Amino acid sequence: MTAVDVVVIGGGVSGLTTANALGAAGHSVLVLERQVRPGGNAISERIGGFLMEHGPSTVNLGMKGVADLADCLELGNQRTNLGPEVRKRYLTKGGRLVGIGIHPMAFLTSGYLTLAGRARMAAEIWQPRGNRDAIETVAEFGRRRFGAEFAERVLDPLVAGMFAGDARRTELDFVMPALAQMERVHGSVIRAVLGARLSGGRMPARQMSSWRDGIGTLPQALARQLGHAVKPGVTVRKITRTSQGFVIDAGDRGCLRARAVVIATQPHVAAQMLAQVAPAAAESCVRIEAPPLAVVFLGYRRDQIAHPLDGLGYLTPGCEGRIINGGLFCSSMFAGRAPAGHVAISAYIGGARAPDHARLPAKTLIGIVQGELAGLVGARGEPVLARVRQWPRGLPQFQPGHSRLVELFADALRDMPGLFVTGNYLRGVSVGACVDAALDTAEEVSLSLGQMAKAAIPHAGPGRVAGTSSVPPCR
Ligand SMILES: Cc1cc2nc3c(=O)[nH]c(=O)nc-3n(C[C@H](O)[C@H](O)[C@H](O)COP(=O)(O)OP(=O)(O)OC[C@H]3O[C@@H](n4cnc5c(N)ncnc54)[C@H](O)[C@@H]3O)c2cc1C
Repeated sequence: MTAVDVVVIGGGVSGLTTANALGAAGHSVLVLERQVRPGGNAISERIGGFLMEHGPSTVNLGMKGVADLADCLELGNQRTNLGPEVRKRYLTKGGRLVGIGIHPMAFLTSGYLTLAGRARMAAEIWQPRGNRDAIETVAEFGRRRFGAEFAERVLDPLVAGMFAGDARRTELDFVMPALAQMERVHGSVIRAVLGARLSGGRMPARQMSSWRDGIGTLPQALARQLGHAVKPGVTVRKITRTSQGFVIDAGDRGCLRARAVVIATQPHVAAQMLAQVAPAAAESCVRIEAPPLAVVFLGYRRDQIAHPLDGLGYLTPGCEGRIINGGLFCSSMFAGRAPAGHVAISAYIGGARAPDHARLPAKTLIGIVQGELAGLVGARGEPVLARVRQWPRGLPQFQPGHSRLVELFADALRDMPGLFVTGNYLRGVSVGACVDAALDTAEEVSLSLGQMAKAAIPHAGPGRVAGTSSVPPCR
């Protein structure tokens, strides 16, 4: 039976980043990935000059972990930033698109909100602090601080767009900790933003970027770096603890022995694997829902679309009663996403708002998106390309109490030496958050392997044990 220091189960961004950092720290590591192609949901596909993102479309390279990782992997010359056409974002109101500047205060000057809604939004500065101990949803926080109109027309579509979530069932502290913190520290979000500007400081900037061939570039570069350490097409069935570590059962692909295991799968798979080795942790995982999500990618000739597509895309508040949560103007965001004289738009359907919609037949979904784009951006005629990706489990939902759930989960794993879990449901859903969590996990695994080695050598001196190092993000 093959034996390694660490087996990582799951070859998405989280698993590959963890494995790469562990390899760089000198540990022997294997990644077992169920699919034939590693990358998890970060899949970018070129189809006849178009580039379709099946999963993530942007990465925030303002986050240090993922920016450093991209540098280590020498992806700098492939980086692509938001195009000059992206001057605004759109929200739907009464069946049409309303453009709003990318400035945080742009809602005050745009006619998207009513005058009363804007006055109530500006009055946030005088609202009393809320109860620090209460677990609030994004919708509750928005209503309390900025008024019902802002909550329904701005925060609700934002949560649907960023997390495929429902603002009425999403924990503020977990998904928007900066907003919660601004109220706690400054008593008001607007006061915190103005204070930072007046003192010459800047709010942490998001750098929405990608790479020439899409976000899939990152996991593919990691997989290349890891080489034979990545085993695609291997489904792990079960893990069992032994006196020397773990046995990992990969069905007809055989069994492996490892001193440590990192589970980097979706939460429902993690729950199955943990059920025998850490039942309390499994209970936390099983409570995390990930409703289905569909991505509909349409390519048109430029002359088929009346709208200038001069923005990131659009989001739709739930109160508009539409099937599509929102869309991205992919070919305006980044260069090279559509052939010359063509444009590309991605629409997102399902998630917590309406999971059943994501399960509709692909043809029906295409028809729905075509119909909506006809009304919103003046799309005429048949698209030159139409593709659908249906994720049976889309993004994990961060329901009220999620932060506590994550704490309980960490507690349940604390007494389980050698057993680690990482993924998008523990620290945040974005690619950048997954990388941060993975790098921290690699650090903990490395430390734990060092402690195991130290325990096996009774006369080892004080200080760090050989083989234990602060892990770099890559070789
Ligand atoms: C449609 C969509 C749009 C998104 N848009 C953005 C965006 O624009 N920006 C952004 O930052 N983030 C975005 N995200 C979120 C981000 O892409 C994900 O959170 C992140 O890629 C998750 O990576 P992961 O490795 O944790 O999980 P996954 O990518 O889910 O990887 C888990 C892996 O585990 C494997 N696995 C499961 N079971 C087993 C088993 N038994 N044995 C072996 N392997 C197994 C799976 O096959 C999979 O490859 C989006 C996600 C989706 C779905």
